[in-house]
Amino acid sequence: MAPVIIATDKTQLTQFSGSKSAYPVYLTLGNIPKAVRRKPSQQACILIGYLSVDKILASHLTQKDKSSRVQRLFHDSMRIILEPLKEVGRKGMEVTGGDGRVRRVYPILACYVADYPEQCLVTCAKYGTCPKCQRPADGLNLKTPGETRTASWTLRVIKNSKANSASLHQFHSKCQALDVSGTVEHPFWEGFPYADIHLAVVPDVLHQLYQGVFKHMVSWCDHLLHPSELDARIRSLPLCFGVRHFQNGWSALAQISGKERKDMARILLACLVGKVPRKVLLVYRSLLDFIYLSQYPSHDDITLGYLQGALDTFHKHKDILVHIGIREHLDIPKIHSMVHYIDSIRLFGTTDNYNTEAFERLHIDLAKDGWRATNKRNERPQMVAWLARREKVTLFQQYLETQELSERGEVVEIRKPPQKISLSKHPSRVGQCLVDIMETHHCPGLINDLKVFLNTCQMRGQGDPLSKRRLELTQVPFDRLNIYHGFKFFREELIVDENEERLQEKDWVRACPSSSNQEERFDPVVVMRSEDCEPTGVQGRC
Ligand SMILES: [Zn+2]
Repeated sequence: MAPVIIATDKTQLTQFSGSKSAYPVYLTLGNIPKAVRRKPSQQACILIGYLSVDKILASHLTQKDKSSRVQRLFHDSMRIILEPLKEVGRKGMEVTGGDGRVRRVYPILACYVADYPEQCLVTCAKYGTCPKCQRPADGLNLKTPGETRTASWTLRVIKNSKANSASLHQFHSKCQALDVSGTVEHPFWEGFPYADIHLAVVPDVLHQLYQGVFKHMVSWCDHLLHPSELDARIRSLPLCFGVRHFQNGWSALAQISGKERKDMARILLACLVGKVPRKVLLVYRSLLDFIYLSQYPSHDDITLGYLQGALDTFHKHKDILVHIGIREHLDIPKIHSMVHYIDSIRLFGTTDNYNTEAFERLHIDLAKDGWRATNKRNERPQMVAWLARREKVTLFQQYLETQELSERGEVVEIRKPPQKISLSKHPSRVGQCLVDIMETHHCPGLINDLKVFLNTCQMRGQGDPLSKRRLELTQVPFDRLNIYHGFKFFREELIVDENEERLQEKDWVRACPSSSNQEERFDPVVVMRSEDCEPTGVQGRC
């Protein structure tokens, strides 16, 4: 069986002038390991169509009519694009694998990756309600999901409303009363074997959590403390490795990107301590915990328990936001979406398997580069031809490479770039006295730590290290050290692509005492020491 993952997302092609956009549809398979899937050069995600982005100009139509037509056009187009999946899902199709063997494969529509407005569009849910369950718009603050929406339930609502209404308008209102959009009579997923579109809609960390939940959290801050005070707190944070320094605070930021939201999420909690009530702090902490835990690259029952724990803490204390007048209610679809995360992770794997960001990355290759290759007039056929040619060239290239390797008797393997740490050739300071280092680097425990470290190195495999008491009586066999004021290392980014070195970012950890021309800077570093530290976040780190 091949679980099919479909993603659709509109993207802007021109940045500064004009308003050209594209609406690509991507397809990939759940069987492909996620490490391969998110490398554009591996071509595990393919473009299967561009949807219409044309605006309806007819002036006699109301805004609502226009939007209904756009929605029907979307479903009609998707039906044509995905039609072949229906029959092969039932009967199977013969597919030649990478190993040359032919297998019977049943492709089943499993996941649909999209942001919230598109989730509503795809599932025919009324905008403002949940595309996955039947919680009404005013019940979204509850801590449990409502009765599941199923494809057959939605189709039944549409069919009954259609049968009992005389006009389109009546059909629309009858559907809306039951939280169904009421614009589409035949959704594209009607008749798909073994698939349920409501189940297929998956969590979306970027739009639901960062651009949704976290955006709300930042806006609530306006009620908790004066924006200028928050700015002042943000400005006064010391420079630190891995943490962006917002020199002008946040209130000056106009359009905030996903990357900026992630940088903001790292420091928000610390900036609120001492200024907001304890319960509000608990709400903020539990939401941030949820955001981070939900992005774990692997999960088990224990880590999913932490995720549930964060959610429970939020629901236990969330009413404080209403009590102190920050919000009138918490019926927010994106906040509600959190109750569906655990089920989706159990069903479809961790959230990085169906991350919208990975698909957004494809826009560069599969939409923007294609558009740049055209003469900007009637561009879509040109884009398709350009992409088709490029795909063929890449496939042939890969074929030649595998042939060459198999002739030489080598096996093709996917290499993981090694973690590199680089030091400068020469130390920043030569022959520094240990006592001076303790002073300038503010590390009074240095000599003691050196003893422990040297002792464990020396005794490795030769019995137990010395006891603490006996260690205290020993001497370090040197009194001077060469000092390096930092090291660089390569970060493992979301997309580590062998052909695109520019994506490999270098980071620099610094430990520089103050000198005549610069202020001192000591970056805090979290080191994983045992296997426990990955799921718990803090335990086992130092
Ligand atoms: Zn729901």
